[in-house]
Amino acid sequence: MIIVPEREIANLMTRDAAFDAVERVFAAMAAKDAYNFPVVREAIGHEDALYGFKGGFDQSGMTLGLKAGGYWPNNLATRNEINHQSTIFLFDPDTGKASAMVGGNLLTALRTAAASSVSIKHLAPRNAKVLGMIGAGHQSTFQMRAAVEQRDFEKVIGWNYHPEMLSRLADLAQELGLPFEAVELNQLGEEADVIISITSAFSPSLMDAHVKGGTHIACMGTDTKGKQEVDAALVARATVFTDEVAQAISIGECQHAIAAGAITPTDVAELGAVINGAIAGRSSDEEVTLFDGTGVGLQDLAVASSVVDLAVAQGVAIDVDF
Ligand code: NAD
Repeated sequence: MIIVPEREIANLMTRDAAFDAVERVFAAMAAKDAYNFPVVREAIGHEDALYGFKGGFDQSGMTLGLKAGGYWPNNLATRNEINHQSTIFLFDPDTGKASAMVGGNLLTALRTAAASSVSIKHLAPRNAKVLGMIGAGHQSTFQMRAAVEQRDFEKVIGWNYHPEMLSRLADLAQELGLPFEAVELNQLGEEADVIISITSAFSPSLMDAHVKGGTHIACMGTDTKGKQEVDAALVARATVFTDEVAQAISIGECQHAIAAGAITPTDVAELGAVINGAIAGRSSDEEVTLFDGTGVGLQDLAVASSVVDLAVAQGVAIDVDF
């Protein structure tokens, strides 16, 4: 069995490799060559922790396994460990034997950023110039770095519920050589050609009336029942794509528009089908497209499998007899 510890991931995994892995597995899901298992997520009644499993099988990539982990809210304050903890386990699909154990913390951020980046590649207006960021937490910088690789952005504008955190976006924009402006949501919705929303909100920030003209919106924060980042009316107005329809309508941004009766599951298409060329993506410059990125187990397995290959190739994989 190969072990790739968390400390090695930053030296091994690249944004390009994460992008390719995620794009490939979205395509495999839409072609029905890969499927996700039902998600398990439990409050374990200890340390206020939420723990669970996301797994799946990709027959085209021969990747089988699961990500185990969750959220331990007291970690940072009491143990100086990060609150989100996850580990990815891969198994040999021919035998069921465990084949790899891979640190999943950094990979989670990279695969989540890769998902919105894949959506921008396939759905954003060609000549997008202004990137709008909603959210300035841990995930936000990964999102911005991956997004700017997809279009020739000339400017980043941002809004955050806690404005004091916006310096994080400003600092990264400066590092990337882009001007940054902190704006109100109406200006963000009017000026941005691409909007990434990555917050832990339980009520909408971006409203339907805020968004003007052709725009692509990647909603990346809503991954649990009850969370919400954008107005259900905006979801209803947009042409909606997702990683997995079942998750979008139950734990993703679409859950609210579905509950309101504003859309039906058939209004939500898989991004993988656009990647495969089975359906059209954006149909005009004026369209509002929305990607509901809920985060699926197969994304984790795809990037873990890439990192195992990279670790073996670079001689840093720990091989144990198991
Ligand atoms: P974080 O705790 O570092 O940051 C949280 C962000 O949400 C901050 O910008 C904060 O200001 C904002 N926020 C908090 N309360 C808000 C409110 N009431 N209204 C609007 N904004 C509010 O979190 P993070 O690690 O950056 O993760 C952000 C979200 O992304 C979380 O909901 C997390 O579960 C989700 N996530 C999704 C995926 C996926 O695959 N889709 C993967 C990883 C994380």
